[in-house]
Amino acid sequence: MALDPEISSSIDRAVDGCAGDLLALSRSIHAHPELRFEEYKASGWLADFLSARGHTVERGVAGMQTALRAKSPGGVTKGARRPCAAILAEYDALPGVGHACGHNLIAAAAAGAFVAAASVADAVGGDIVLLGTPAEEGGGGKIEMIKAGVFDEIDVAMMFHPFDRDLLMHPTLASLWLVFEFHGKPSHAAAAPHAGASALTACLDTFRLIDGQRVHFRDGVRVHGYVTNGGQAVNIIPERAACEFSVRAPNGKELERVRGIVERCARGAAIASDVELRPTVRQGYRDMVTNTALAKCFGAHLTGLGRSPRDVDPRVGTGSTDMGDVSHVVPAIHPWLAIVGEGEALCHEHRFADAAVTPAADQTAVVAAKAMARTAVEFLADVELRATVSAEWRDREQ
Ligand SMILES: [Zn+2]
Repeated sequence: MALDPEISSSIDRAVDGCAGDLLALSRSIHAHPELRFEEYKASGWLADFLSARGHTVERGVAGMQTALRAKSPGGVTKGARRPCAAILAEYDALPGVGHACGHNLIAAAAAGAFVAAASVADAVGGDIVLLGTPAEEGGGGKIEMIKAGVFDEIDVAMMFHPFDRDLLMHPTLASLWLVFEFHGKPSHAAAAPHAGASALTACLDTFRLIDGQRVHFRDGVRVHGYVTNGGQAVNIIPERAACEFSVRAPNGKELERVRGIVERCARGAAIASDVELRPTVRQGYRDMVTNTALAKCFGAHLTGLGRSPRDVDPRVGTGSTDMGDVSHVVPAIHPWLAIVGEGEALCHEHRFADAAVTPAADQTAVVAAKAMARTAVEFLADVELRATVSAEWRDREQ
């Protein structure tokens, strides 16, 4: 059962009605890039946009000052709990390259989608929640919100991300960070090199050993690192050295397998140099499990709005996002929509930051807002869609 065309038009009109303010919001956030957990201006402007339209905004959600939540005006439906769809906003920037991930557009599109969907949600017997989620770039704000139970009342979650092509189910990688500190024995590098044990040699051997193991990596695995401490002075055999690796894989199982290989390489390198290894691990993000029923619904609306999305495109790489963690808690989608032509620029490049405030980017944000609002409301209104989404969720690989 498709969404009632009248509701669809009403959603589109609601987005168009606030498009000027949405794009102003996008531009303000872009012009004042704020790093993870410091998005005070961005979250404040987003809250102002919502308050100005009569929505009550809860700040400081899940113990994070820059997180926020707004809900559509509640109603009462007899019997079962009303269905609830969440639309997620991000608004953090990157060091050095500003809004090179286009999160200003994610915030604007989410705000527009929420306002439009909230205007009809009660009429179809459901609820819409907007979540302002801080620190996607390495801080994992959504993980804090999961821990705080924010998603307990939510049935599906969605957001959009700017890209160089339209993809409905582009995967993202499970990730973690490994830090290896090596502790050796210092000695005079010229007078008594035989008396030392080089922590730096162990550090560099770790890179070489990992490179040797790449032949055993499955497709899609990424291991990339850098030396964070390369020694103390040129005439001292390095007593301390350290490196950090990001390990990524298409799913959690492969991530753990590769983590074991990388740790083994560090241990082997430490043995070879007779130094002590002190490893630490930081959990990253989980892989994105796209709910295909919801993604297809979004894709149909996107097509109706004049775009031609593909499901996936193996020619283009991917990263990691804390939306992946959300997708293991509730059925979720994280579609990617073009703000530039294919191959013109990609996330985290200066050119992508420039592209995030062009008319093409603005148009994509408006289209994303309409498609998300239509998808969210269709989910609330259509019991068959809810059943399909739930069945897929129950049958997913854990
Ligand atoms: Zn991003």
